[in-house]
Parts: sequence; C-alpha cells; structure tokens
Amino acid sequence: MRADLHTHSRRSDGTDSPAELVRAAAAAGLDVVALTDHDSAAGWEEAAAAALEAGIGFVPGMEISCALDGRGVHLLAYGVDPEHPGLRAELRDVLAGRNQRLPAILARLRTLGIHVGEDDVRRLSGHATALGRPHVADALVATGDVADRSEAFERYLSPGRPAYVLRHAAPLRSVLALVAEAGGVGVLAHPWSRGSRRVLTPETVASLVGDGLVGLEAWHHDHPTADAVRLQALADELGLVATGSSDYHGTGKVDHDLGSHTTAPEQLEVLLARMARAAELARDRDPSVHPAPVVPVPS
Ligand code: AMP
Ligand code: ZN
Ligand code: FE
Ligand code: FE
Repeated sequence: MRADLHTHSRRSDGTDSPAELVRAAAAAGLDVVALTDHDSAAGWEEAAAAALEAGIGFVPGMEISCALDGRGVHLLAYGVDPEHPGLRAELRDVLAGRNQRLPAILARLRTLGIHVGEDDVRRLSGHATALGRPHVADALVATGDVADRSEAFERYLSPGRPAYVLRHAAPLRSVLALVAEAGGVGVLAHPWSRGSRRVLTPETVASLVGDGLVGLEAWHHDHPTADAVRLQALADELGLVATGSSDYHGTGKVDHDLGSHTTAPEQLEVLLARMARAAELARDRDPSVHPAPVVPVPS
C-alpha cells in the first residue's frame, strides 16, 4: 500500500490539472493520493472522479497557510467540509491576502526594472484559485529574466530578496479548531522546514495536540533523515500519526516526484480512522456539516 498525502495541482501552484495529477499518481504505482492545494478545495471533485476511474484511493485535503508566533506554518487539513462557514471565512481571508500581495510583488519588481503584468501572471497560472509566488516565478521565466522557478526564488521572491512581500496567514490554533468543527483532521506539513522549525519545538507540538492536532508530516524532502526519524519518534510519543509525502508540484519543483516519500500503511490506517471519527463527532455536534468523503482503495 503506497500512499502520497501531499500534492499540488494547477488549482494552486502545481503544474498538472487535478485529473492529470491523479493519473500520474496511478502510473507511479501509488494506491492512494491526496490532493492538497494551497488554501483551496477547488480540485477535489475533478481529482475524486479521476481516482474512481484510475482505480486508486483519494483523500481530499488542503494545505492551509497559517501563522504561529510570527512564523508561517503549513497545516494539511484532510476531509474538511469546504462549505463550513468559519473555515470558508478564514480561507477567504488567506486567498484575499494572496491576491493583494500580487500587485505589491510586481511593484517591487518594477523598481528593479522588471515589468510583468498582473493579468499575465493570472493567465499563466491558468487562473489558479490560490495565486502564489511560483506563478510570479513562471512569469519571470516567460520574460526570460530567470531560467526556472528556483532561480526566481533565489534572486527575487524568497524572504530577504528584493521582491519578497509578506501576506496574510490564518492563526494556527484557531484553524485547528475550525478544521475539527468542519469534520476534518489537521496534520502539520513539513514541520521542521526552514520557515517553521524555530517555532515548532517538541513542546509546542505537544501543546498543539490539545488544540486538536492529529499528525506530523515526518517524511518530507525538507527533512534530513535524522529529523524525520526524530519527528516520527515525537509523533509516536504524542500519539500522533506520522505521514510521509512528496509535496509534488508537477514540473514546478525538482526532487518532489510523486511517491518520493510515502506514508506507512499502518499510519494511513490510523489517519483514516481518525478522519472517520472526526467526521462523526462534527456531525453529532452539527448535522449541517458535510465532511468531504475519501474515495476508498478498490479491494
Ligand atoms: P506562496 O504560498 O505564494 O508564499 O509561495 C510558497 C510556495 O512556493 C510553496 O508552495 C513552495 O513550494 C514554493 N517554493 C518555495 N521556494 C521554491 C523554490 N525555490 N522553487 C520552487 N518553488 C518554491
Ligand atoms: Zn506550493
Ligand atoms: Fe508547504
Ligand atoms: Fe505543499
């Protein structure tokens, strides 16, 4: 059983359509794939239909841009009801922050003599729901200013570079509560990657369990093996699920091929059980909540 629980399509900053991504997952020998576009459920329907057709399992997810103690932290939210009013309001603010940041980034680039139009970025993105820095990077590739997304980040878009602009993120602890209300479960994405490592100490992670945290993405490209082992041990100690995933972005990010990291079958089983339980609890509290269903692996 091979499961990859963190991937991005063109609905955010990946380069495959949701259906293409699912077909690529099946071709890569995966039994289960989750689509986790940034701050959006826009690709779920297409991906779920493609998974049924391809005969693999599908887990609906999203990677929510959160803030904790002044740092950006990414939360993978699986199985939430995307129509939940509180969650929708948070996502609306984050997506608005993404839209507002774009002209600010382009203004910075103009002072450097680089002229890119807002409409060009939106068109190049395929009118993605969640507009990101990678789409600006694609525009810079198109104008010939840089060779690829990585160079665009290194020269202009990463923190400390001249066209970096902060954007709104949602407060992590309240998002965890909303995810539970919306019938889903929260797993910290790449907790020890450069941005979030400083704030996500073992003590803080332990305190987040009280806020409803269900898992840690231990096995990820951003984590050297020693860190992944420590995160797996931390998850075991705290009763959290330890996942593994590629964080696939299509051709937009190298070294993130589908299935390059996977979630152990016994961890997947626990995650799915926690999702079922979270959905049940949320519906007991509020029958108008409709948690997004998993497409099971065909037996
Ligand atoms: P944003 O959400 O718009 O702030 O942009 C963050 C996204 O940029 C993340 O999904 C990363 O995967 C992507 N990203 C960050 N650094 C790089 C890089 N060097 N090359 C390609 N993509 C990157
Ligand atoms: Zn991304
Ligand atoms: Fe992330
Ligand atoms: Fe991601």
